[in-house]
Amino acid sequence: MTRGDLIVISGFSGAGKGTLMRALMEKHSEFCLSVSMTTRKPRESEVDGREYYFVSREEFEERIRKGMFLEYATYVGNYYGTPLDYVEKMLDEGRSVILEIEVQGALQIREKVPDAVLMFVTTPDIETLYARLKGRGTENEETIMRRLGQAAVEAEMIGQYDYIVVNDEVDRCADRMYAMICAAKSAPVRNAELVETLKKDLAAVLGNKQTVKGEQS
Ligand code: 5GP
Repeated sequence: MTRGDLIVISGFSGAGKGTLMRALMEKHSEFCLSVSMTTRKPRESEVDGREYYFVSREEFEERIRKGMFLEYATYVGNYYGTPLDYVEKMLDEGRSVILEIEVQGALQIREKVPDAVLMFVTTPDIETLYARLKGRGTENEETIMRRLGQAAVEAEMIGQYDYIVVNDEVDRCADRMYAMICAAKSAPVRNAELVETLKKDLAAVLGNKQTVKGEQS
């Protein structure tokens, strides 16, 4: 069975990553979402095992020591990490796995899994980002400015991603994301085995031809 693809989605807070991912997964059932582990406290609406696995710092650090994360990072004072076993199992079963993670984790994935597809989600412009953060009504001006400060740091890393996803309209944007994932799968870097086989088979055919030619002359 062909192994699934690893898709990493990062983006500015307020850019609409969650909504986009839900739209993508509704349209395409081959994707599954990895549930991360974190030491941050659950928000009111969050359920353990659905949004995150919520664990203590001690437990998280024990898992780091045991090498149980594909990647992990600290973000605003808390640990966040991707459990390795689930991702491996899904990829082995041929499912494509989406990780919704921040930039430090995404860059670790780039190193460890060179054929992962890295996508960065942004609003069309910063006015829209500000308006969306404000429109949530859950954060005060200071928190919004902190998130924009974080966005400025993240903006420096966008060049390391494969694709930038401009979230103008969710439905169309999810379709574009799917097209990007399909295109990424055809890149030579993600088909190294096929390229090697083509080269080897060509060499074999040419080698035989030369021998045959040699025998005839
Ligand atoms: P929040 O606390 O708002 O749910 O998430 C904060 C940030 O942590 C978001 O940017 C989110 O994408 C990121 N995040 C969530 N899970 C993981 C993970 O497993 N690894 C990393 N590196 N970042 C994560």
